[in-house]
Amino acid sequence: MSAPTASVWMDGEVRPMSDAVSPLLAHGLHYGTGVFEGIRVYETDRGPAVFRLDAHMDRLARGAELLGMTVDTAAMGASVATLLRANRLTSAYVRPVAFYSGGGLGLDLGPLQATQAVCVLPWTSHLGDAASETGVAVRVSPMRRISAAALPPLKLTGTYANACVAKLEAVRAGYEEALFVDDEGFVVEATGENVFLVKDGRVVAVEHQDALPGITRDTVATMAGAERRRVTLEELLDADEVFLTGTSAEVAPVTRLEGRGRLAVGPVTRALRARYQDVVHGRTAEAEQWLTWA
Ligand code: PMP
Repeated sequence: MSAPTASVWMDGEVRPMSDAVSPLLAHGLHYGTGVFEGIRVYETDRGPAVFRLDAHMDRLARGAELLGMTVDTAAMGASVATLLRANRLTSAYVRPVAFYSGGGLGLDLGPLQATQAVCVLPWTSHLGDAASETGVAVRVSPMRRISAAALPPLKLTGTYANACVAKLEAVRAGYEEALFVDDEGFVVEATGENVFLVKDGRVVAVEHQDALPGITRDTVATMAGAERRRVTLEELLDADEVFLTGTSAEVAPVTRLEGRGRLAVGPVTRALRARYQDVVHGRTAEAEQWLTWA
């Protein structure tokens, strides 16, 4: 995702990245028994600001609770300001992670010990910065998103094998991103973003029980006064505009959608993209509630 950073926070201490190592027999490495977050720090007129830190830490805590793991989200959150200074960064991608690291390879999580860490990385977009301008080519995945009945949609590390394999399939087919649809034809989400459509000027935030409750989705739906409801693939293919939201992707127009062909970057998407940039950079009053100055 980015160049390595000099200092990280691990189990309560700031350490050089080279000292922040994990055992080969870490449970989380073998079984995906971890939880992580992706958070952005943006430059504002009042200095670097973390966008929706509390919401991200709440979601991390929900994942940790599911795994029966204790995490100190207050300490993890507080480490962000320290790490920005230590690494001389004013904008960043923040990656908190907590995973089972010791206590054996058995499947009973009870006796295991966890490691908690926070890395701040110089920002580079995972869809590529161009994607938010020129748009993303999206393939309708032949694969299914892990259902909420199997694993609640939280940022559990193991769940991401599903996303990565679906994305690999989409990239091999000549697209940049995969769209999950369920057995009944309802849109779920993309591998790392939620989905929106615009029809006749109305904005719809796609809702689905198997989709991650995205923080960008909530931000954009609030800003746009969007309807939040289930959407079939058929309805999506008939939309005037389609865009994706995520911490990394921000508001990214879909400009090629399998089954539909090319789509222009529409005026509603363009306006929401611009407004989202104003919000995350602290240029509007509505941003106040969502920014933590670091
Ligand atoms: N869905 C998935 C599967 C994701 O990994 C992400 C990125 N966190 C999103 C949606 C978007 O969520 P957010 O806006 O909170 O980054």
